[in-house]
Amino acid sequence: MLLILMTSAQPLAEPMASLPAQAQLPLRDYLQKPYADLFELAPGLSFSSTEVSQQREALKRGEDSCRRRFGDHAKQHGRQVDEARKQLKSGGTEISEARRSALHCNIQNYELLRSEAQMLSQHAIPTAYDNLNAKLDLLLQWPAQYRQARAEIANGSYNSRRWGDVKDIGFREIASGQQDDIKRGQQAVEELKRTGLLPPALEDKQIQQYVNSVAARVARHSDLKVPLHVTILQSREVNAFALPGGYLFIERGLLESADDESQLAGVMAHELAHDTARHSAKLMKRATIAGIFYQAAQVAAILLTGGIAGIGMYYALQYGFYGLGLVLDLKLLGVSRDYELEADQLGIQYAWSAGYDTTGFTRFFDKMASKEGYVNGVSWFRTHPPFYQRMVQAQREIMFLPPKSDQVVQTSAFLAMKKELAPIAAAAEKEEIGKPSLLIGKEEGCTPPKKLEYTPSQPIEELCNMPLRTVGGGR
Ligand SMILES: [Zn+2]
Repeated sequence: MLLILMTSAQPLAEPMASLPAQAQLPLRDYLQKPYADLFELAPGLSFSSTEVSQQREALKRGEDSCRRRFGDHAKQHGRQVDEARKQLKSGGTEISEARRSALHCNIQNYELLRSEAQMLSQHAIPTAYDNLNAKLDLLLQWPAQYRQARAEIANGSYNSRRWGDVKDIGFREIASGQQDDIKRGQQAVEELKRTGLLPPALEDKQIQQYVNSVAARVARHSDLKVPLHVTILQSREVNAFALPGGYLFIERGLLESADDESQLAGVMAHELAHDTARHSAKLMKRATIAGIFYQAAQVAAILLTGGIAGIGMYYALQYGFYGLGLVLDLKLLGVSRDYELEADQLGIQYAWSAGYDTTGFTRFFDKMASKEGYVNGVSWFRTHPPFYQRMVQAQREIMFLPPKSDQVVQTSAFLAMKKELAPIAAAAEKEEIGKPSLLIGKEEGCTPPKKLEYTPSQPIEELCNMPLRTVGGGR
């Protein structure tokens, strides 16, 4: 069995059996489907090389023009800011208070739009196209990869893959000296608190209990050899991270975004795998914790003082990218191609070992990558290693794991947690909006531009065709 089809929030594609062989969709339509569907469908599809190369070209052209378009929007908004400043200056002391306030609003709002356009052009659009290209690669290359994986299973060679000893999880050693990381982790937690980078903990007994129980279940079935400490952070960032020595942090945004318990467990398992493999210890041979947090504090200063930092600012505030993920994953947790692939593999193994649906992590990854992820900066969600490689490696590992019945996808405890969380999240959001540290501008009573309207299932091309945005007021 290649894939265990699970009930998830998104509808799965029509089963192949109900489609006549020739009723193939246009190639572009497949790129909109989840990875899980493509792994199923790819072996039954074939495309002419002309169709493929035309699609590849179309993606290239689409990305270029989309990025250019939003780059132009950013420049246009920059000119609007300049224009408002000029008018302020030339108005001198004669200017009415209402006029002055309207111009302040314009400066503030066009800065926001400029920042948003830059974020789209430099981060979101390239990520979205990377993802489409990965899906194209998958359609073309997965059938052969699938046959190869089947052959490895048939001849038993899959057992000798790296960390193929899954029956010994908990008894094998991924990296020696995990206990040496406890001190380092404690130090890192203290530094995080001291620099003000760590969002406050979310104090809710029921949610804490639930999250603890899922994390403990994963940890118990992993190679972790240090005590587990779980903290839930009051932050809308869709992220989780593990500091060395068993310090697992779950941000509220992750709990809000996950659709089922296996997705949550999958992300936790990936993060704990960074700890069991001691990736940060390997990375920190060169960098010291103090050095890392000095850089973190600099980022925090920009974010927390509300200075207009251009790129990323609007992004940060609108989408919950607080800088914590930005600093931690790159510096402390390490985004190295090999480490990421290793954490993917081990994480899938731990989720499997704990009795969870092994596709939880990849389904969540896909959800973030294809739907909302290109506007999120989560640490396990980077384009290095490329999407294609991560998804294929993950799928191979899922195939290689001994089948288990009754893999958990959803639980009533997860649903109860979501119910408990909803009003807490709503209250926190309301409070955050009024926080001085999160106000970019200083002008009172400005209506900010409407948040970008973009429904997740829309193809990226629709975003690319959005007209230049304007703001009200300023007359
Ligand atoms: Zn990772």
